[in-house]
Amino acid sequence: MKKCSLTSVLSSCFIVAFLGLATLMPAVPAKGATPEQEDAERIADLVLANHIIADQGVVDGFGHISVRSAKNPNHYFISRSRAPALVSADDIMEYDLDDHPIDARGRASYLERFIHSEIYKARPDVQSVIHSHSPAVIPFGVSDVPLRPISHMGGFLIRQVPVFEIREAGGNETDMLIRSKALGAALAKKLGNGTVVLMRGHGNTVIGQSIKTAVFHAIYTELNARLQAEALRLGGKITFLNEVEAGKIGEQNDKLVDRPWEIWKNQALSHAQQR
Ligand code: MN
Repeated sequence: MKKCSLTSVLSSCFIVAFLGLATLMPAVPAKGATPEQEDAERIADLVLANHIIADQGVVDGFGHISVRSAKNPNHYFISRSRAPALVSADDIMEYDLDDHPIDARGRASYLERFIHSEIYKARPDVQSVIHSHSPAVIPFGVSDVPLRPISHMGGFLIRQVPVFEIREAGGNETDMLIRSKALGAALAKKLGNGTVVLMRGHGNTVIGQSIKTAVFHAIYTELNARLQAEALRLGGKITFLNEVEAGKIGEQNDKLVDRPWEIWKNQALSHAQQR
């Protein structure tokens, strides 16, 4: 088989390599996988993750997910500017952390890619980033009611989720988009060591130590927001998870992401076939 460079991995070489890997390797690369094999796995999971977050209603025509390169941790992979539900392996581009595409081949970039690069720079532990306009979180970004962990599955929120106010970093006359390094860095700073940052009047950004964990965080942030809004409508006092409960649950759930991933994957594939 011909040698796969990172630039050719997205073309026919990728398909040959991936089909070979898919039959030989489990979904999680075996110990001893080369960084090139690990990146092929990450790209395959990235394509699937695009379909899952679309199928689960976290993203629509907008929003994006990226993954850090295993071969070169100062690079990351993300689709060209395209609706997540339609993303295929040929759409995946590689960028350095200054957001220069390695081999653009005429493909357009997401305007808000700075979200991804600046979080990868600030957080060496982060392997995957999702930015979405996740609808249920919007009210918590524009009101003074903080988003907090209300259910077992939202434990990773730990405590009150920070809200990024773009006027503080970019003034009163932006188009709300994270379209520069400076805005990306300000957003990463607001995220801090957390898992989720809300963006006032815009959406949110979530991180994970793997693609599957980031997808889990994105889906359950949306669900937690819906449940909290329901509890607020009931009136009365709401009891949230305390930090110890949330921390213990978050740690436990992060180990179980393969279980929901399998069903989300099956649902996304079956819905794609019905279209
Ligand atoms: Mn956006």
